[in-house]
Amino acid sequence: MPEKPAIVWFRADLRLGDNPALDAAARSDSPVIPVFVLPCDGLLAPGGAQRWWLHHSLLALKSHLEKAGSSLVLLKGDERAVIADLVERTGAGAVYWNRRYAPQHIETDRALKQMLTASAVSVETFNGSLWRDPWEVKTKSGGDYRVFKPFWKSLRAKGPARARLFSAPSKMRPPSQWPKSDDLSSWRLTPESPDWAHEFADHWAPGEEGAAKRLETFLDDANCYANERDMPAMDATSRLSPHLAHGEISVTEIWCRVRARVDLGELSSANAEKFLSELAWREFSYNLLFHNSEIARAPLRKEFERFDWREDDKSFNAWARGMTGVPIVDAGLRQLWRTGWMHNRVRMIVASFLVKNLLIHWTKGERWFWDSLVDADAANNPASWQWVAGSGADAAPYFRIFNPVSQGEKHDPEADYVREFVPEIAALPNKWIHKPWSAPDEILSNSHIVLGKTYPFPIVDLHGSRQRALDAYQKLKQS
Ligand code: FAD
Repeated sequence: MPEKPAIVWFRADLRLGDNPALDAAARSDSPVIPVFVLPCDGLLAPGGAQRWWLHHSLLALKSHLEKAGSSLVLLKGDERAVIADLVERTGAGAVYWNRRYAPQHIETDRALKQMLTASAVSVETFNGSLWRDPWEVKTKSGGDYRVFKPFWKSLRAKGPARARLFSAPSKMRPPSQWPKSDDLSSWRLTPESPDWAHEFADHWAPGEEGAAKRLETFLDDANCYANERDMPAMDATSRLSPHLAHGEISVTEIWCRVRARVDLGELSSANAEKFLSELAWREFSYNLLFHNSEIARAPLRKEFERFDWREDDKSFNAWARGMTGVPIVDAGLRQLWRTGWMHNRVRMIVASFLVKNLLIHWTKGERWFWDSLVDADAANNPASWQWVAGSGADAAPYFRIFNPVSQGEKHDPEADYVREFVPEIAALPNKWIHKPWSAPDEILSNSHIVLGKTYPFPIVDLHGSRQRALDAYQKLKQS
């Protein structure tokens, strides 16, 4: 009788190091079959930029597994059916996975677990992506947190669930026969014609090694994080988000590395705490996702269901292409298009511009980000859009409307960021670059700018649209 293999199902945890499900499977002494299943449809199917990342991340994962004497089986389709079929074909006796928290995923995982255990296949699940499972962080009365500060206080006091990191298995027993696998290239995850992702590789190194290197490079220089993290031209943030979205590094490992730097005296406590608190926003978003199945579709504050959003495809397209005529907004959306990523401060500015100045529904922006971000994340993306729209749990008040001109002047005072991504106005002096429409004619012509020709006039009047948003909010409050 051949030995029953154990299946490790990789999902958003594309790494060997500190991977609890992989560690448990490798220690089980059974032959191990690592598998990744590409979901083909549904709200959470990977968007365009994520697919580019996934392609490279899977290549890296496969190569690491091969070094440990194993391989990676690639399959496509309905996750439940594909895993059930794989178990049957291989005669697997156990399936291991790290938990996911989107209600759609929970439903799939729960149904599969039920089906497998009913056929005497053991299923073991682990927390591989959060410091704490969402049900572990509760208010004193046992409810879920709706406000970030007390959530973080409670989570900070608990710390991560594990203090110990799992080493990557150096050797894994292969099965006597590998099941059939798709060829990664047949999935066509990278764009071809046009290859809109041609610059991504200059900015990113997907995979576990790239993630570890990114963390260490960031920590070498993280003593300016708290002061400079809001300056988009400074490169002061970690840029770990796409690595985290694909689980190429664990947050528990990040916690340990940050604490170790503090203990060594290389990182100040203030900067370490600020960085950990940003990671806690991610945990908070996962808590919101876990408790709100409709977070990507419906406002968490129900009164926003009645909000008077505008349908305006022309303005939406100008926004998405970075052609609004408002420089910091255009710079952000062009950074997104060119690199698959956007600085957090600028994400807030462009999102506020869409939902408040243009009064376009936040779900349209959420979907655009989902398709364009290499770090598109089922929790962070909708939770952040709802935060900006004012319809989230702990949200910016609706009446607080970002002024993109003063935001640009404050956070990009030398305009290095705008000049990089909006080169057609680069010659404007700093005084006018965040508001070219106010520049005197002589300055515009000396800078070779013809508004409406070489760069657009603003698609909306900032002052008037701010008032329109406030009026719409007032109407909502009164209705
Ligand atoms: P750092 O400042 O180095 O922070 C470290 C990590 O903490 C990040 O990688 C991220 O995992 C987490 N983090 C930081 N800020 C936040 C935040 N505000 N909310 C939740 N987690 C945070 N983040 C995503 O990971 N995926 C998304 O799809 C996403 N969509 C967003 C949409 C909008 C409209 C806004 C305003 C923000 C969004 N964010 C999203 C949050 C944030 O912008 C990014 O996490 C951050 O810019 C990533 O850069 P970094 O890794 O250099 O961040």
